[in-house]
Amino acid sequence: MNLRALYPGMAVQSRSNAYVKAPDAGYPPWMNRVRLTLTLAMLCVTSGGRSEMNSRSTFSAATQRDVMALRAAAQSSDYSYEQVRFLCNSIGPRLSGSQQAAAAVDYVKRQMMDLGFEVKLEPVTVRHWVRGQEEAQLTRYPGQVPGTSQKIVVTALGNAVATPPDGITAPIIVVNTFDEFDRLSTNTVKGKIVLFNHPFDEFAALAGRAEQAYESAVKYRSQGPARAAEKGALAALVRSVGPGGSRLAHTGTTKYRQGGPQIAAGAVTAEDADLIAALAVRGEVEIHLLLTPRDLPPAQSYNVIVDLKGSQHPEQIVIVSGHLDSWDLGTGAIDDASGVGVAMDVLRIIKQVNPRPARTIRFVAWMNEENGVAGGRGYAEDYKSELPKHIAAIELDFGDGRPLGLKVHASAEKLESLSGVLHAIGDSIGGVLTVEDSPGVDLSPMDELGVPTIAPLQDTRHYFDYHHTAADTFDKVRIDELRQNLEIICSLVYTLAQKEDGSSEPAPQ
Ligand SMILES: [Zn+2]
Repeated sequence: MNLRALYPGMAVQSRSNAYVKAPDAGYPPWMNRVRLTLTLAMLCVTSGGRSEMNSRSTFSAATQRDVMALRAAAQSSDYSYEQVRFLCNSIGPRLSGSQQAAAAVDYVKRQMMDLGFEVKLEPVTVRHWVRGQEEAQLTRYPGQVPGTSQKIVVTALGNAVATPPDGITAPIIVVNTFDEFDRLSTNTVKGKIVLFNHPFDEFAALAGRAEQAYESAVKYRSQGPARAAEKGALAALVRSVGPGGSRLAHTGTTKYRQGGPQIAAGAVTAEDADLIAALAVRGEVEIHLLLTPRDLPPAQSYNVIVDLKGSQHPEQIVIVSGHLDSWDLGTGAIDDASGVGVAMDVLRIIKQVNPRPARTIRFVAWMNEENGVAGGRGYAEDYKSELPKHIAAIELDFGDGRPLGLKVHASAEKLESLSGVLHAIGDSIGGVLTVEDSPGVDLSPMDELGVPTIAPLQDTRHYFDYHHTAADTFDKVRIDELRQNLEIICSLVYTLAQKEDGSSEPAPQ
């Protein structure tokens, strides 16, 4: 894909400290099967009578007028941006179970009530993991000046267990891939600390393939510590899943095998991983590692749910959503106050333009996306019998970056029924991409039960620079890009809810 075709008029940014391409950076097979229709077609609106938005979908003059009004309101709205500001700057980090997560639930509830909505809090029991001390130093390494040590920037991985209270001091083994790790004997690994040094493919990210770069690296974070534990390692470190450049540690969950051994696990920065790897080539490197996270008893929390009731088919539902919890290092601005702010604004604007759409539009602020997905799972369970009447579910969870198309996952039959609306909206910004899994983590449980899931395909070239770091803060959010997402998601949600496209009529139950 030509970068300039994807990002017309935008300068291609580069860094002087470019990182090398990951040695086995394979991309998921769905990338080869995608259908990305590039088109310059814009929503075509005429006054009076029915006219085509594109060749595959027709909308009444009233709906077209409404869409124009929604777009105009979105283009000048400050509301989403101000929600993000409050969630980040006044409430702060919102890790599941924290007082701030509870404050965020209460805040969104009150805001939506101020807009005249009834609010439902759906109870969700969440894991309450808290970070502790985080320290690391190289205590022995080739060329060491006597009496010195080297500080290593480290952060605990989410849901990981602690080191002993005095920490662990042990030699490090560096591997780049699981293949390399699998070739090591248990004797070699036993008693050591394993560093999975798999680089995030920054070039792929800059070329518009950030999600694939993430997928190819994140497995070391999610599975590496469990695999190291099974070979007797004392602890595991992973290279942060994100580009280097600012010496930022990126947290994120890791997963132990059920019933398997559990060891302390942290992420070191790309710069520190490079340093350790370079020293290890020359001789033994020993590290002292102290990580003291812990699990508190599970906490009561909530998904925040608000309906704009449908006038003709209230039982048929279109979901628009983001997740309210965040990691604790930053303030969760791009991940995911941006998504929540836009989703709130979608409901606000649609209510202003047409308070009685044909179908119900449901806003959801999910809880616990980051370290358990209890909110998404709970919803699929609690609303199981109603899921066949869910027309589609949308989640925004890739920051503020402007939309370049739509991503969708649905059965062939449901895809066909939605395609008129999807292309009418998606083709105006770049196309419709058919993906193999739910494009939103919180939507996965209902996706598995057959609900079509949709997300904007956003500009994520720099999303992973800050993702899950201390630098995910409000200043990263650009109001103009947020408004572009708002505009496109308002149009999409509304046209899905208007049920005018004959082909989007759901099959009789
Ligand atoms: Zn997220």
